[in-house]
Amino acid sequence: MDRSTENTSSIDHRRITRRQILGTGIAMLSLPVTSKFAQAAGSQILAVRTWPADEYTRVTLELSSPIKHEHFTLDGPDRLVVDLQGLSMSEALNSLISKIKPNDPYIARVRVAQNRADVVRLVMDLKQGVVPQVFTLKPVGNYKYRLVLDLYPKVAKDPLVALAQQSGDDPLAGILNQINSNRPTAAVPKVQGQVAPQPPQIATAPSRSNANRPILIAIDPGHGGEDPGAIGPRGTREKDVVLSIGRQLRDVINSRPNMRAYMTRDADFFVPLGVRVQKARRVKADIFVSIHADAFSNPNARGTSVFALSRKGASSAAASYLAKKENAADAIGGLDIGAHDRNTASVLLDMSTNAQINDSLKIGHRVLDALSRINGLQSRRVEQAGFAVLKAPDIPSILIEVAFISNPQEENFLRSTDNHRVVANAIMTGLDGYLATNPALARS
Ligand SMILES: [Zn+2]
Repeated sequence: MDRSTENTSSIDHRRITRRQILGTGIAMLSLPVTSKFAQAAGSQILAVRTWPADEYTRVTLELSSPIKHEHFTLDGPDRLVVDLQGLSMSEALNSLISKIKPNDPYIARVRVAQNRADVVRLVMDLKQGVVPQVFTLKPVGNYKYRLVLDLYPKVAKDPLVALAQQSGDDPLAGILNQINSNRPTAAVPKVQGQVAPQPPQIATAPSRSNANRPILIAIDPGHGGEDPGAIGPRGTREKDVVLSIGRQLRDVINSRPNMRAYMTRDADFFVPLGVRVQKARRVKADIFVSIHADAFSNPNARGTSVFALSRKGASSAAASYLAKKENAADAIGGLDIGAHDRNTASVLLDMSTNAQINDSLKIGHRVLDALSRINGLQSRRVEQAGFAVLKAPDIPSILIEVAFISNPQEENFLRSTDNHRVVANAIMTGLDGYLATNPALARS
């Protein structure tokens, strides 16, 4: 491995893309100039986290104060070089090296070294060329300042291909056939600098018609990656519980001959709310089911709630509170709003229709009824609020708060994988009930 290239001034700038983002003026003023250790006056690394996933790999450096940084990429071999100013080598920084997993789709390994007196240089040896998004986040929730390094593939991943990979069997051909003959209305979610993929070439049986298209359910496990969601008194994380329930629901759905599931995330990484919606629209999902298990300010709060979108205000103060909480996911999970396509990042509020909301309410009633048989009900009706993730104008969408992870009894319930299966089966029962009374969708 040639280490000299990125460590000397002999870098060929013609093949470098360089972007520079400077820290804020406030950061400069906040340096503790009276410190006895002037050299150590810079920022401290508080934590280093990595989130490898097929869609993109994220590395987060959590810092005590904002820092200046710049980055560039090199090819032959592919590398991402990040210079961090005002930092010294530390245990936390060194720990990044061991946090890169062999199965990371993008990073082969990381090297960290003091490059100049106050500059630490990270060199990431890459498995493929990347489109990097490097940005800083101000403190939010339990986090201090974060420097986020997102490594995206040069060509964005098409959710249609992911769907084909999730279940490449015969009934799916019906879905893909229809999508092929009737171009998807939603674009592939991508970030700035990424190229959209060619439409997937999918071989399908010519005899199949749209009438044979299975019902496609988009399953949206909430939170993920940097955003743990709510955390129970015993430390149970919402993002893990809802992913497990989502996988159980996927398996139940895929066991049906006339149904297929698509997951907006099937691993532990952050997906912005707008991207979740856009993915479901890209695959032309028939129903969108977002799964959550939130906390409430009162630890006695308990029970199951199901939500649909509201175009006006929220139906209750609790619904308003939860929608606000869920809509904060992008800030906690770490969204570089400028990097995403405008149609991905923008909320689709004004496009929402009464028809979508009416269908969502019908589905919500069925699902709530089924869930109420396994768990004490908090709400006797389906509630409505302005959840960003429910804003696909053309897909009936519900958000299920399975239980309150902040309630000690309910946290215990949510810790059991058996209960995840029970919850998934109840959601399925609710969906079945809705589909039985909506032959247009059921197509049987
Ligand atoms: Zn949640």
